[in-house]
Amino acid sequence: MEPFAYNLDEADIKRERQKARELRTSQWWKRRCAKAVCYYCKKNIHPRDLTMDHIVPVSRGGKTSKGNVVQCCKECNNNKKQLLPIEWEKYLARIDLQA
Ligand SMILES: [Zn+2]
Repeated sequence: MEPFAYNLDEADIKRERQKARELRTSQWWKRRCAKAVCYYCKKNIHPRDLTMDHIVPVSRGGKTSKGNVVQCCKECNNNKKQLLPIEWEKYLARIDLQA
């Protein structure tokens, strides 16, 4: 038996986080970060300062797939964690206007 078999959600989250760690070491991820642009605010960010974000959070059933994972700056990552989805939509709309 898997240690978390009694709780599929926890096992799923653990697996997706592990996949994220692996994806971070991939050429695909390095190429994405080499663009040095935050996916959300489009600011130029040093690749070293880019973080991996799940568009749909793992805690809400999001998968670690190339379609659900983006590079973003720490500021956007923090904001996204703190804001409710509706507030995050407003945040994105605001930075779109500034662009
Ligand atoms: Zn950003």
